Amino acid sequence: MKTDYLIVGTGLFGATFAYEAKKHGKSVLLIDRRDHIAGNVYTRNMDGIDVHVYGSHIFHTSNRKIWDYVNQFSEFNNFINSPVAIYGDELYNLPFNMNTFSKMWGIKTPQEAKDIIESQKAELDIDEPRNLEEQALKLVGRDVYEKLIKGYTQKQWGRKCTELPAFIIKRLPLRFTYDNNYFNARYQGIPVDGYTAIVERMLEGCRVCLNEDYDYVRKNGTLKDGTPVEYDKVLYTGAIDEYFDRKLGALEYRSVRFETERLEEENHQGNAVVNYTAADVPYTRIIEHKHFNDPDVPFTIISREYSAEWKPGDEPYYPVNDDKNGALYEKYNELAQNEENVIFGGRLGAYKYYDMDKVIEEALDLCSREF
Ligand code: UDP
Repeated sequence: MKTDYLIVGTGLFGATFAYEAKKHGKSVLLIDRRDHIAGNVYTRNMDGIDVHVYGSHIFHTSNRKIWDYVNQFSEFNNFINSPVAIYGDELYNLPFNMNTFSKMWGIKTPQEAKDIIESQKAELDIDEPRNLEEQALKLVGRDVYEKLIKGYTQKQWGRKCTELPAFIIKRLPLRFTYDNNYFNARYQGIPVDGYTAIVERMLEGCRVCLNEDYDYVRKNGTLKDGTPVEYDKVLYTGAIDEYFDRKLGALEYRSVRFETERLEEENHQGNAVVNYTAADVPYTRIIEHKHFNDPDVPFTIISREYSAEWKPGDEPYYPVNDDKNGALYEKYNELAQNEENVIFGGRLGAYKYYDMDKVIEEALDLCSREF
C-alpha cells in the first residue's frame, strides 16, 4: 500500500485532514488502534439512543466557517446545553448566572448579586489570580466557589484548585442575566444522527484500518496482517509523549471512566447533564443521553462519569496544562519540529484543552499550509 499520508487516529483532527487531503487529490491511509472510528467523539446508537461513549460532546462555535463546515456532513438539532449542579440537597443552574445567584442568596437583581460577590471578594486580596482558586474567588466569590467549583474541580483534575491554572475556569461563562446557556457560542447543537455518522461521511472513500497500532506500523513497515505500508508523510494525532516513547518523561493526562446503565424509566434526571459538585460524591456528573437528541424512546440510558489520573493502558482525555507539563510539552514539541515528514495535531498531539470546533479549525489551518 503506497499512500501520500499515513494518518494516525480517526478523530476529528485526522478525519478533517483526510477529507481535505482527498479533495486535493492526495491519497491517505488512516489507522486507529481502537475498533471504531471517530476517536472520543464516537457515538453509538443503543436501541434508539445515541450514546456519547467517551463523554458528552456538545458542538458549539462562534466561527461561522466551522459551523458551515460541520453542517456539510450532518444536520444539527437546536440543543442548548443548560446543565444543573447538585450540591448536597441543593440544586443550582449553571453556568454562573442570575438563576444561580438568586437561588444561592435569595436575591433578584444583578446589582444585589454583584454587591454580594464584591463583598466576598473584598475579604481577599487578589490582584492577578495565580491559580484556579484565586481566579474563581475573584470571579464569583466564596459561596459559589465552595459549593459549585471547589469539589467538582478537585474531583475532575485530582489536584487542588490552588495547583491548577486559572484558564480552566475561564471556559465557563459568568453572566448577570437569567440565561442558563452553558456556552457563549453563536452556534450550538448535536448532530441528528450522531458524531460517528459525521466522521463516516468525512472518511467516505478513504482507506481506514482499525485495530492497528502506529508503533507496529512504524517498526515493521506493515499492518498486522503483513500488508506493506509505504507513505511519504505521517499525520500523528496520538499523545505526543507516546510518539517519543516518553523518553523525556510522561506528560500527565486525566482519564475518565463511565458507568453506563439502561434504566426502565422514561426520564431519570430531566436534563442531559447534571453535575455533582460536592467532594463526597465519587462521580463528577451524570449524563442522560436521550436528552441530547432522542427524547421519545420509552426508557433511558445514563452514564456516571468518574475522573482518574491517566496510567498506561487508559484512554487519555484531558491534558493537565500546568507549568510543569507545559515545560515538558515544549521539549517534546522541539523534538516534534525536528521529526522529518511527521506532523502532530489534535488535542493529544498538541497537548491542548481544545474544544471540537478548535480541533477542526486547527486541522483546516494545517490543510491550508499543506495543500
Ligand atoms: N467546573 C466547576 N463546576 C462545574 C462545572 C465546571 O467548577 O459544575 C469547572 C471545573 O474546574 C472544570 C472547568 O470548570 O474543569 C471546565 O468545565 P467544562 O464543563 O468546560 O469541562 P468539560 O466539559 O471539558 O469536561
